[in-house]
Amino acid sequence: MIVELISVGTELLLGNIVNTNAQYLAKQLATLGLDCYYQTTVGDNPDRLKSALEIAYSRSDMVILTGGLGPTKDDLTKEMLMNFFNRKSILDLKAYEMLSARLERGGFSTISESQKKQAMVPENAIILYNNNGTAPGCIIEEGDKICIMLPGPPKEMKPIFEEYCVDYLRKHSDCTFVSINIKMMSRENAPLNVVGEAPVAERLGDEILDNPNPTVATYAKEDGCLVRVTASAPDREGAIQLLIPMVKKCRQLLIEEYIQYVEEDV
Ligand code: ATP
Ligand code: MG
Repeated sequence: MIVELISVGTELLLGNIVNTNAQYLAKQLATLGLDCYYQTTVGDNPDRLKSALEIAYSRSDMVILTGGLGPTKDDLTKEMLMNFFNRKSILDLKAYEMLSARLERGGFSTISESQKKQAMVPENAIILYNNNGTAPGCIIEEGDKICIMLPGPPKEMKPIFEEYCVDYLRKHSDCTFVSINIKMMSRENAPLNVVGEAPVAERLGDEILDNPNPTVATYAKEDGCLVRVTASAPDREGAIQLLIPMVKKCRQLLIEEYIQYVEEDV
């Protein structure tokens, strides 16, 4: 599976913003064992976006786009892609409800047509709901081509990528992934949910949390904090060999503070 990135936005071409999305996504793809040979930046222009897509699909199987999913006139990525893949535009009810709730919280009592456009999605797409903004992302699968559309703002794009795309992309990678979960519970008879994510992350430290392979991530769960260590390698045995020392290291750092339960995440 060869993946290509297309960053959409005239702001990027003018040098008004730095393309941190491409940097983030490129790192993620490397961690997932997916090859990415090209990155393109294109302005908010339908013809040029179309030709960027045609070039991308002539040499890659999957294209990940960021930007241009919002409500304004220059946000044309989704419309352009629906055209490209010949998909009808349908209203997604969940996206519409999430959009109305968000606008209501922001003090808007009605939804304008341009706002509503954000809840319109391509038919037969996988919808990537956005908890941090108004425009959802989506995945279109067309024969052996895949297209992932993500919103431009990094604080929306990254959580969507982590929630939906990581697992999706793992299925398309040649690497084998093995995860071990370490569940943290308080030693002090405190209610279980007292174990917060922040102190656990602090104990682990940046060096561990930024490690590319195995990756280490913390998750706040209702009954305690979870640390997930994930290793990738060509085969399971190789992944486990990478995993063991990192799990040991994490457990040692956390042993004083927390009772730990370890289980393989299958
Ligand atoms: P919105 O709903 O906010 O309009 P959008 O999906 O339409 O989101 P854009 O309009 O293309 O995205 O960009 C919105 C903002 O997101 C930009 O002003 C910029 O701050 C940020 N952004 C967009 N693309 C990138 C990028 N490649 N790297 C970093 N930041 C970006
Ligand atoms: Mg926009």
